[in-house]
Amino acid sequence: MRIVFLGPPGAGKGTQAQRLKDYLNICHLSTGEMLRGAGEAGTELGAEAERYMNSGKLVPDEVVVGIVGDRLSDKDCSLGCLFDGFPRTVQQAETLDRMLAQRKMPLDLVLALDVPEPKLIERLLARGRPDDNREAISERFRQYGRMTQPLMDYYHQRGILRQIDAQGTPDEVFEKVRGAVDAVGT
Ligand code: ADP
Repeated sequence: MRIVFLGPPGAGKGTQAQRLKDYLNICHLSTGEMLRGAGEAGTELGAEAERYMNSGKLVPDEVVVGIVGDRLSDKDCSLGCLFDGFPRTVQQAETLDRMLAQRKMPLDLVLALDVPEPKLIERLLARGRPDDNREAISERFRQYGRMTQPLMDYYHQRGILRQIDAQGTPDEVFEKVRGAVDAVGT
């Protein structure tokens, strides 16, 4: 099964993807986590990615697509994969479609986590990652609205988009996520 998590910063994609990974036993591919890992590893690429992340900008496609392609070829991704933070632009979505087509692994479901903006800002400021300051947060929302929100239409047209009200506790939200996944079947 291949599932994409969509949603604005702070919507809980990482939290829900982690739970769903344990439920389905498939791989969790988080571009944010991988990029932060590259930053901590201190590679040149990682340092460059960190500059984009800390200012709330999107990391260039060549970098992101490269790490996703590498990860997708790992054995644990052959049974299924949860995409968290990727794709984030229509161009990335088209690239993902091509990568999955090559591997004969179609996308089954796109879960869009929906949370009102004031609540998101509250969550992000409480989390306190280096990119969770007011300036970077507002830039991330701007990028989300411009670059990522168009993906809702992209996947809606394909008939695989499910919207989920993600305002409740992680457990409450996961019940809805699980419901949507069980409805597709494995
Ligand atoms: P959040 O969704 O809460 O902002 P993420 O960990 O998903 O957190 O992303 C953090 C940052 O990592 C983004 O603001 C961006 O700079 C970078 N990033 C993650 N995924 C991508 C992607 N697919 N394309 C470009 N940049 C990305």
